[in-house]
Amino acid sequence: MSATTDTDRPRMSCLDELPRELFIGGKWSPANDGRLLTSVCPSTGETLATVAHAHATDVARAVAAARAAGQPGSRWHRMSPAARARLLHRVGDLILAHADRLALLDCLDNGKPLRVARAGDVPAAAAVFHYMAGWPGRLNGENASLYTASPERHVALTMPEPVGVVAAIIPWNFPLYMAAAKVAPALAAGCTVVLKPAEQTPLSALLLGQLVREAGVPAGVLNVVTGDGDTGAALAAQPGVDKVTFTGSTEVGRSIVQAAAADFRRVTLELGGKSPSIVFADVDLARAMDGAAHAIFYNQGETCVAGSRLYVQRPVFDEVVAGIRERAAAIRLGDGLDQDTDMGPLISAEHRARVLSYLRSARDGGARVTGGQAPDSPGFFCTPAVVTGADPQAPVAREEVFGPVLVAQAFDTVEEAVALANGSPYGLAAGVFTRDLGLAHQVGRRLRAGTVWVNSWHVLDPALPFGGMRESGWGREMGRAGVDAFLETKTLINDLGTRPWGAVPAPR
Ligand code: ADP
Repeated sequence: MSATTDTDRPRMSCLDELPRELFIGGKWSPANDGRLLTSVCPSTGETLATVAHAHATDVARAVAAARAAGQPGSRWHRMSPAARARLLHRVGDLILAHADRLALLDCLDNGKPLRVARAGDVPAAAAVFHYMAGWPGRLNGENASLYTASPERHVALTMPEPVGVVAAIIPWNFPLYMAAAKVAPALAAGCTVVLKPAEQTPLSALLLGQLVREAGVPAGVLNVVTGDGDTGAALAAQPGVDKVTFTGSTEVGRSIVQAAAADFRRVTLELGGKSPSIVFADVDLARAMDGAAHAIFYNQGETCVAGSRLYVQRPVFDEVVAGIRERAAAIRLGDGLDQDTDMGPLISAEHRARVLSYLRSARDGGARVTGGQAPDSPGFFCTPAVVTGADPQAPVAREEVFGPVLVAQAFDTVEEAVALANGSPYGLAAGVFTRDLGLAHQVGRRLRAGTVWVNSWHVLDPALPFGGMRESGWGREMGRAGVDAFLETKTLINDLGTRPWGAVPAPR
């Protein structure tokens, strides 16, 4: 497939020879109906590239390829854990070898600062493959004893088995990292995968497909279908998919659960959040201001774990909020390619309009909003915003904005802080800023969140389980739990019969 309307911005060479078709069964092919998807650079609003737009029939092809690649007797099925681990390591190495290009692709496609993608997203994606490479050789079952029967009568063992064909549907905020976070543990468990990147950011997933092939992973073990929400819906509902792993909005997560209920396919969901940071008055103020600002403004606020609600103990409320406002004003917005850029644009014009509408309604409701302006320039930029005096029931205070918008409120007691923090249907992440470690632990235990950071934020690691409570999702990714999510446990019981002692038959 050809023809893009690539602009001639510097460093566009990362697009040269980038595959733009569907990666199915180890081969590149156009969509059955020839449809294309356009990727726009949010820093300029210009078309970046066109890629294939998978139709439901392409999705069916990809799932069939994944099924065939994981069948008993297939190369992947017969492969030793050692060989599988080597392949995963090789993919991690290839990601690092192509780090500059991958970072550029995510910078152009998503708008995030190049230096953030280069220092954060790309090494993190490689680390997931390297970490997960340690698991294939360690997925042991148990030699189990029966509880209700004599151990002389039965031998029983459990064995982990790959769940089968995995549909991985990912969002646009960390394109390469999200792909790695789904693909690496699934492959470590011995599954095969159909990956659907977000329509806004398809490019790095296509290069990942190429690198996985280059690493020697057998054809069909990873398939990449680029497309939109309809493509994702077709994939989630496709017969032949054993498990759906999804990161995205709570609303789409709900529809995936409904589709999965038809045949009880497995589902892992990493959904939205409205994560609270709690700042106690004893805190190192500068550290808390830096931490709370980083919690919300990192990656344009386009993170599911964004610390979008800030609760500050009353004696230091004004000072902390003023410090965060100063930090917000100092953030340099710009094209992600510019080395001085701290914050890129939002992902799209529609998304920016949505973010701004939250701020408009907050202002209309009497809140004080600083920042939250759309500069009169190309691209979908929005300056970081801090909101005080908002009605706690207002949409900006309750709903996931998914942008650089912080809503701050004062509290007096620990009880009140915990109640405010837990007063959300979400439960993805939370943070506690204090010098008192005992208090941090006590509060941390009471927060309904899958991850609680103390005096920190956005610290994620492939070894640490990550995921949400309540409407933030089902299951955990990363760590042992993240591999288990792609395994079924089989129990095999052998009845040895009721031979009396001594009645061993003579050898023939
Ligand atoms: P966001 O609001 O962050 O764009 P979405 O939940 O809409 O998040 O999208 C996340 C991913 O889910 C994207 O890859 C998108 O194409 C896909 N998607 C959107 N709608 C559906 C759907 N109904 N079923 C399956 N996947 C979908």
